[in-house]
Amino acid sequence: MLEFMEEATVECLINAETRSWNVEMIDGIFIPQEAELIKKIPLSRCEADDSLFWPWSPNGQYSCKLGYRFLREEEDFNRLEEPPDYEKGLWKAVWALEIPNKVKHLLWRACKNSIPTKWNLARRKTITDPSCDRCAGGCEDFLHAVWKCADLDGVWGELELWGFRARVSFQCFGELMAWIIKNNRTPELFAMFFWSIWTQRNQLRTQQPYCPLSQLSQLAKDRFYEFKASHPAALPRRGQQQTTWSPPAQNAFKINYDGALFPDTNRSGIGVVIHNGDGQVIASLAQPLNQTFKAVEIEALAASRALELAADIGLNEVILEGDSMVVPQALKSKDLGLAAYGLLIRDALSFAGIFSEVSYSHTKREGNNVAHGLAN
Ligand SMILES: [Zn+2]
Repeated sequence: MLEFMEEATVECLINAETRSWNVEMIDGIFIPQEAELIKKIPLSRCEADDSLFWPWSPNGQYSCKLGYRFLREEEDFNRLEEPPDYEKGLWKAVWALEIPNKVKHLLWRACKNSIPTKWNLARRKTITDPSCDRCAGGCEDFLHAVWKCADLDGVWGELELWGFRARVSFQCFGELMAWIIKNNRTPELFAMFFWSIWTQRNQLRTQQPYCPLSQLSQLAKDRFYEFKASHPAALPRRGQQQTTWSPPAQNAFKINYDGALFPDTNRSGIGVVIHNGDGQVIASLAQPLNQTFKAVEIEALAASRALELAADIGLNEVILEGDSMVVPQALKSKDLGLAAYGLLIRDALSFAGIFSEVSYSHTKREGNNVAHGLAN
C-alpha cells in the first residue's frame, strides 16, 4: 500500500459525483483479483453511513452455523496466504548458482517481483498501459517478459531443454525458477537466457543497440560458456576426487562431446565444444534431434557429429573426449562387434580418418560439463 494512503478509507476509492468506483485508482493500488472483487461490489446511488453487513446468507440473516462456517473458510484461506511451497529452498539454491552477480541479482529481484516491468509500473500508476511491447498481447509481468511472450518462441525453442515451456504453466517467475532448479534443467544456462532477454528488452525500450531475437539464444549460450570458462566449478569437498577439464597441448584441439535424452518428449540433443591449446573455445554446436535413442547411441552420434564438425573447420591434431565409457573404447579398438551402435561408430571412424592425428579419451561428467550443457 502506498504510504500516503495509510489513513485512507474506502471513500477515496469512490467517485463522489458519479457514485461509481474510481476504476483507475483501484486498478493502480490492488492486485487484479482484489481489484475485480472491489469493482464487483455495487455502490449505492446515494451516500450512506457505514454499517455492518453479513453477506454469507441469501437473506442477510446471521446464524451461528453460518458464522462458524465462515471462520473455518477464513482459516483455510489464510493458510493459502503462507509463502508458497516453491519458495522453500529456492533462495539457497539461487545463491548457490554459479552465474555472474548481476544475473543473480536480477534473478533474486525477479523472484521477489520487484522488477520495473510494465505491469508493475502500471500498478504504481507510473504508466497506464501494461501490455507487452513485443507481442502487444499480454500484460508484461516478468514471467511474460522473459518466458511466456509468444515472440520468444524462437529463443526458447532452440534447445529441447526448454521444451516443457509449451506444456507446463507457471503462475509467476519464482515458481518457474523453482521448477527449473528442482528438475535440474541447467538453471545457470536458463539464468543466462532470461537475463539476455531482459537486457535486450531494456535496450530496445531505451533505443540502444540490441541483439535481434533470432541471435539471442546464441548470445546467451556464448555468455554462459564464457563465464563457465573463466569461473571453473567450485572446489569439491575434501575427500572427493575432482575431475576438471584440461586444455590440450599447443597445436592440438580438444573436442568435447555429449548426448542428452528426453524420452518424455521423444527427443534428444547433441552438444560439442572445441577448445584450442590456450583453452579458448573455437567452435561449438548444440543440435536438437526429433527422436530419442539409447544412451550409447546418442553418445556415438554425438562423437560422430563432433568429429565431423572438427573436420569441417579443418583441424589436424585432435583429442576427442566424452563422458561415455563405451564409445572411446569402441573407437580405439575399431572393433564394432555386433553392437547395434556399430554403424554409428563406423560413421565416427570415417571422419576420424581425415585428421593427421586423433586420440580418444574418457572423462567424468564434471570434466565434460560444457558439452553436457550444450546437449541439454
Ligand atoms: Zn509479449
